[in-house]
Order: sequence, then C-alpha cells, then structure tokens
Amino acid sequence: MSENLDPFSISQKQLYDACKIIGYESQIYNALSTPERFIEIKITMKMDDGLLKTFRGFRSQYNSARGPMKGGIRWHPEESASLVKALSAWMTWKCACVDIPLGGAKGGIICNPKEMSNNEIEKLARNYIRKLADVLGPNVDVPAPDVYTNPQIMAYMLDEYETIVRKHAPSVITGKPLALGGSAGRSIATAQGGAYCIREAAKDLDLNLNDASVVVQGYGNAGSWVAKILKDTFNCKIIAVSDSRGGIYNENGINPHEAALHKEKTRTVVGLDGTKEITNEELLELDCDVLIPAALENVITRKNVENIRCKIIAELANGPTTPDADQILFQKGTLVIPDFLCNAGGVTVSYFEMVQGYYRYFWTEKEVFEALDRVMTRAYYSTIEQSQKFDTHNRMGAYIIALERVVNTMQLRGWI
Ligand code: NAD
Repeated sequence: MSENLDPFSISQKQLYDACKIIGYESQIYNALSTPERFIEIKITMKMDDGLLKTFRGFRSQYNSARGPMKGGIRWHPEESASLVKALSAWMTWKCACVDIPLGGAKGGIICNPKEMSNNEIEKLARNYIRKLADVLGPNVDVPAPDVYTNPQIMAYMLDEYETIVRKHAPSVITGKPLALGGSAGRSIATAQGGAYCIREAAKDLDLNLNDASVVVQGYGNAGSWVAKILKDTFNCKIIAVSDSRGGIYNENGINPHEAALHKEKTRTVVGLDGTKEITNEELLELDCDVLIPAALENVITRKNVENIRCKIIAELANGPTTPDADQILFQKGTLVIPDFLCNAGGVTVSYFEMVQGYYRYFWTEKEVFEALDRVMTRAYYSTIEQSQKFDTHNRMGAYIIALERVVNTMQLRGWI
C-alpha cells in the first residue's frame, strides 16, 4: 500500500495515535480532529498588465481554548486546504507544547510571489486582510509570515487591518518590521530556537558540536539562519545546503554567510564557488551528525528513511517526516527533535512581539533570546521526559504534553 502523504490526514493520524497513548476516548479525538472554523476566500484583482487574476486563499482557525489563535500565512503555488488545516493543527500543539497562552491557526494563498511585482504583492496582501478582517484581531487570531511571505508583507497587512478598524493594533500581526512594532530577534527566532534544541540534543548524545557535520535542506529564513548560528556559536561544519533549485556540498565545510550572499545575488545557493552540486534527494541521505529539514513537508518518508544516516534530525520545517518514517527512525535510534518543538522559536518570539505590542515597551535582543532559551530548553526536556515515560518517539512525547494542556483548558471551559 502506498504511503498517505496528505498533510491533514497525517496530522489527524498523529493526533489519533497520541490520544490512544494517553488513553483518551474517541469523543476527545473527535472534538480535536478538525478546525473550529475554516474559511476559504476568493481574491480577484487587476494585475500590472491590466488582466484580472483570481486567487484562492484560506484561513484555518483550529483551536482557541488556550488564547488568541496564532499562525503564519504561506504563499505558495502548491498551497492547499489540507495543508492549511494541518499547519493550523500543528500550530495548536506547538503553542501548547512550549506553553505560551495562544491557540492555533494558519493561512495561505495559492500563488507564486516569485512571479509577482511588488505592487501586485501589496495588493494581494491588502485584499487578503480585507476579506478576513472580521475574524482576525489581537485577541482573536494573529497572523505572521511563513513560506514566501516576509516582514514587508506583514507591514501591508497591518496597515490594511488598522485602516479598517481605524486605530492602531500592532498585536494583530507579528513578524513585522522593527519600525512598526516588530520584536528584536524575530527574523532569526525560529532558527535560534532550533539551535537551542540542537544544543540540548547534542548534550543528550554526548556529541561535541565543535566540527559536527550539519546538512540543511531549504536555505530560506529558517534554514539559512540556523546554518549561520550553528557555525558562529558552536563552530559546526555545514557540509551541505539546498533550496528549490538544488543543493551544494563540500565535505570540508561551506561558509554559511557566503552561501546566503550567493543566494541573495543569484536567488539560489547552487553555483557557490568551491562546492559540488547535488540533488535534494542526495542531500537528505548524506552521512552527517545533524540533518535539518527546513523547506517543506514529506521529505523523510518510507521511501528514503532507511537511507537517512544522521544522529539528530532537527525539524525546522513543518511536517517533514511521515508517521511511517517516524516509527522507523525510532527503531533506528535517531534522535528526532519534532517540528512543533524544534521550530517553536518563531511563534514564541511572535508571542513576545504581541506582548511588547500590548504595552508598547520593547525588549533588547538579549532579553528576547534569554527568554526564548528558557522556553525552548524547558519544552525540550518536557518532551524527552514524556517520550521516555511512554516509551514512544519524541513527536508523540511532544503531542502528549500539548494535548493534555489543550484538553485541560477545554475541560475547564466546559467545552468537553
Ligand atoms: P522561506 O520561504 O524563507 O524558505 C523556504 C526555503 O525552502 C527556500 O530557500 C526555498 O528555495 C526552499 N525550498 C522550497 N522548496 C524546496 C524543495 N523542494 N527542496 C529544497 N528546498 C526547497 O520559508 P521559511 O520561513 O524559512 O520556512 C521554511 C519551513 O520552516 C516551512 O516548513 C515553515 O512552515 C517552517 N517554519 C518557519 C518559521 C518562520 O518563522 N520562518 C517558523 C516555523 C516554521
């Protein structure tokens, strides 16, 4: 039987497995297995050439028991309703796993911003907010950037929302530019949070990070920053990195800053001097200490999991590993830092950004990262503790913590 790669089915299967381990009845699973609200919108707008184009967009508000819902907006040609629902579920478990008082949501538009002008990008961003303003808000649902969206797009969205409600509301959106109330450290927070987890996982395995070999799939915001942080903080050796156009490899190490500059100039890491070109598939199977999937979903599956040869998988991407692959990695003894723990640094600093926005007083980067370190380190050890207690893999460990917290709040509210 071929493996089911539908993201929402995968998130439901994970939830089902976690409910079973905890011993929840099927009623609890049923109460948690779909979003509270799912909205599909249509945006028709005039493009620069004068022709009309119609886009499909989504917002999935998965669970609001623990606080305002929170989740990024992804713009991608392969965006889908199923993926947005899955990502909104993972946001719910992520916020609960690291214990920040937020629920989970996610949004997206099927589009390719790489083929759009700045003017078209601004129009699309404003249109998305106009369609959804009634169901967003600092105390309702708070978007942020995700794949192919950035602080500038968040700035257009903030301005549109504030124009509609006719007042300042900086905490309606996070990942904003600093000048508009963004938080120090937000742009690198996902990577920084992942690096704290990798530091703790290395301690667990007695792995010296000095000169440890690291492979990064996806050299965007999360991937490029984690490569730079791991090199600059721990002197890790980054032996391979990739993006949607392919990968590059050098067994003696790639300078992650040069790779980022090369990508800035040429829009890809491919072609960096002193590196050999490899495919994304080959990159995942390289012998290394730490493998970091930081691109898209379903890259470690039943098909290639036997060939994965790293000691630690640090999932900065959402949903990179399928449930079948999880089982096999567990049997192989690979230490997986699961996505909604490993990449929770982004939403945690987004939460700090909301807090700073509420009282208009801003923290230094040092304060932000000290607070982030405390949150991530605590969540890492709680996850390990639960997976050991239930003799399961770390993804289930993280689910157990998250689920118990969400279920507890729903019970206190009398929802279940
Ligand atoms: P991004 O748009 O900045 O970068 C994505 C990178 O992946 C790009 O370099 C792109 O070329 C590359 N890519 C796309 N398709 C690929 C493929 N098939 N093979 C290899 N590389 C490919 O996005 P990002 O914000 O860095 O997000 C990356 C992942 O991290 C996503 O799964 C996202 O949901 C997750 N994440 C990001 C944040 C954040 O704060 N940015 C927070 C939590 C989770």
